Amino acid sequence: MNSLFADLPTTVFETMSRLAREHQAVNLGQGFPDDPGPLDVREKAAEAVLHGWNQYPPMMGVPELRHAVAEHYRLWQGLDLDPDSEVMVTSGATEAIAGALLALIEPGDEVVLFQPLYDAYLPLVQRAGGVPRLVRLVPPHWQITEAALDAAFTPRTRLVLFNNPHNPTGRVFSRPELDLLATYTQRAGAVLVSDEVWEHVVFDGHEPTSVLALPGLRERAVKIGSAGKIFGMTGWKVGFVCAAPGLMKALSKAHQFLTFTTPPALQHAVAYGLGKPQDWFLGTRANLQRSRDRLARGLSEAGFPVLPSSGTYFLNVDLAPLALTETDEEFCRRLVTEYGVAAIPVSAFYAQEAVRSVVRFCFAKTDATLDLALSRLQSAVLRRGHSTINVYT
Ligand code: GLN
Repeated sequence: MNSLFADLPTTVFETMSRLAREHQAVNLGQGFPDDPGPLDVREKAAEAVLHGWNQYPPMMGVPELRHAVAEHYRLWQGLDLDPDSEVMVTSGATEAIAGALLALIEPGDEVVLFQPLYDAYLPLVQRAGGVPRLVRLVPPHWQITEAALDAAFTPRTRLVLFNNPHNPTGRVFSRPELDLLATYTQRAGAVLVSDEVWEHVVFDGHEPTSVLALPGLRERAVKIGSAGKIFGMTGWKVGFVCAAPGLMKALSKAHQFLTFTTPPALQHAVAYGLGKPQDWFLGTRANLQRSRDRLARGLSEAGFPVLPSSGTYFLNVDLAPLALTETDEEFCRRLVTEYGVAAIPVSAFYAQEAVRSVVRFCFAKTDATLDLALSRLQSAVLRRGHSTINVYT
């Protein structure tokens, strides 16, 4: 057995979802919406399954989807992508990330990563032979600083694995931070692989800049997107990779032996969906922003110190000011078993020197779901005298 995977614990998302089921808890842990997703896009998929081609589609993705991706990013992000040589469809963003690491690094190459990090990143980097160099971001601002990059980049840096908007912090990184990262990447002669799956899940007028639009990065960046996140159907696992032809050549070789293709019906449905009118995308953002505000307000009223969230399905609370006597993990375990609400301890996203006071909640839920969770959390606070209550006082 490979020792890296043999020793890995089950992902925190799976663990918390299982606990949520066991305790009939409201699941605000693993990030997936209550909403079933846009009916017209699902109908396109159904129609394509019934009447379309269900054999292997082209390895790079069906042309309709590659063109739709290029056109979508031209409209929304001002990118100029050649659909034939710069766009590839993958079976979800996780495949795209794994493929990029397999294709772009050699054993011993250093890879810069930002913690808290999505839990798949580190094992994938290590399994590809990469040597991780971690930049540690901390609450409440989670900011990328020059000093932190100085410490992480070395002459052996070959790749940077970045995520913007950022899970779990809910941050949309600022233009100066992106420029700083671009400068360091260029100076190192490295490739910047950017997981931009949350690009449409942004609030308060934020419009994230893709790494492909940063000066000097067009030829040395890989942009990864996800239909699952754009349409709120996380089980679909349709991802897109965009990169200059030189990089794409290697990326496509990894893809051809990982999954080779992605179900064609879903590809056709996503191609249709990407062309939906601007109002649909903006309306979806507005709805999620309302849910974010509902949960943020409720949690604040219940005494939780809420951190800002500019994107993703998530908002965090930092329990540090409450003089907590337990770790985020213990807190989440208690929340799910005693109060029937599942959340995610953010320490699970750190590989070392974990911040242990931050808890992540998913707000991509109906008002009824959020209100039920809030009422349960409320009663937790009100049960004064109970051994667990000192947390809030
Ligand atoms: N991206 C999801 C989250 O952050 C989890 C995906 C998964 O469970 N693998 O909640």
